[in-house]
Amino acid sequence: MIETPEISCPACGSVDVEQTENEHIAQRPYGGPIKMRILVDRCRACGVDGDFHGANDQVYTTADYLARLSATRPMIDEMNAKGVDDLTFERVIGLEFGTLKKWREEGCSPAEFALVYLAVQEPRMVSALDDTHWWRT
Ligand SMILES: [Zn+2]
Repeated sequence: MIETPEISCPACGSVDVEQTENEHIAQRPYGGPIKMRILVDRCRACGVDGDFHGANDQVYTTADYLARLSATRPMIDEMNAKGVDDLTFERVIGLEFGTLKKWREEGCSPAEFALVYLAVQEPRMVSALDDTHWWRT
């Protein structure tokens, strides 16, 4: 237990707040479960508990990043297996050559991750938008 006199209770304003560190397992819709340490504030005066001052925001942001990072490479590989290669995806979305290689190694933003996720779910969407088909036929 950590004493934190500078934190006040959002419900009653008391500064008689104790803080405990708990292990929490976050299950994201992708990647494996992410184990993290979160801080829980508890007001000794009124019993309210929670994250009174956003101490866990960075913990959740980091957990999300790690979940995306671990899931990006297998998801791009799955997209490739469903017939959408890196070049086609990059051309259709308007990304620089080599972007998917970078995402595999360094991870990507939530929006970029969502694009790959959609391509995995509906690879025909990417193929339908590939305008190189128009002049090939
Ligand atoms: Zn309180």
